[in-house]
Amino acid sequence: MSSIITVGSVALDSIETHNNSVQSIVGGSATYFSIAASLFASVKVVGIVGEDFPEKGINIFKNNNINIDNLERAKGTTFKWSCKYNSDFSHRETLSTNLGVFESFNPSQIIGEEENDILFLANIHPSLQKQIINISNKKKLIACDTMNLWIDNNLDDLHGVLSYIDLFFLNEEEAFMMSKSTSLIDCFKHISMLGPNNIVIKLGERGCAVFESGKITKMSPHPVKTVIDPTGAGDCFAGGVLGYMAHSNSTLIDAIDYGSAVASCAIEGFGVDNLLSVTAEDIVGRVNSLRE
Ligand code: AMP
Repeated sequence: MSSIITVGSVALDSIETHNNSVQSIVGGSATYFSIAASLFASVKVVGIVGEDFPEKGINIFKNNNINIDNLERAKGTTFKWSCKYNSDFSHRETLSTNLGVFESFNPSQIIGEEENDILFLANIHPSLQKQIINISNKKKLIACDTMNLWIDNNLDDLHGVLSYIDLFFLNEEEAFMMSKSTSLIDCFKHISMLGPNNIVIKLGERGCAVFESGKITKMSPHPVKTVIDPTGAGDCFAGGVLGYMAHSNSTLIDAIDYGSAVASCAIEGFGVDNLLSVTAEDIVGRVNSLRE
């Protein structure tokens, strides 16, 4: 069994949907990922928060046995992000991003890392992802996520990261942008040439397409009762997949259903609410009932 180290944003999010609006709730790519992965494996989070980050947020990590020895608390404000969804959640507009203490985040070592660890570089600036690779020991597997912002503005930096990546998670729109093609086969060809041997292209409510050592498999989504808030779905998916792989030594393909089940639970609630109430047994139950 391996442990997982993740680096990414630990944030205060403000989210507006067609029937709800919340201010400054605990979020961030590393937060969603680490809670999801901690269902199956032990997780260390690398990140930074400001003086305004609530004790309630710190307790979320502690209560889920997520190691926060590498979560720095600095003078200043926590990374803040706000967004608005349209009524069917098919579109999300980022309203504001305030980096706060994240702007000067400059980690120089990871406390307690081990060679058998899995490293997940959640969605942050690719130059920070590269910095983490540089200060890390050799890892069992390095995975990463990205977003359209970096593909648009920092593609060279992202290419620099991908040459070290074993497993790359991105969504369909990002894959099309990177590959300048709307064919998934072309996307896999293009992206695998940049480094990763394993790629998951997330297709939202259509599931995902997986490229694992040259073979392409289309995977079904996990059914969702009612979408309440899709924020963090991608991070929860990656957390479920890597958490399950770390726990069971399974292949990527075998772990996909666990990622889909965690993401489906998460988006049936607001922010991290539902994610915090779910157990590993719930997830295994969801996967087994669907497989039957
Ligand atoms: P997702 O819905 O998977 O895109 O993840 C949303 C999470 O990513 C939110 O909790 C945000 O705080 C965080 N986030 C949004 N934009 C950024 C960014 N530019 N860098 C790091 N994290 C971000």
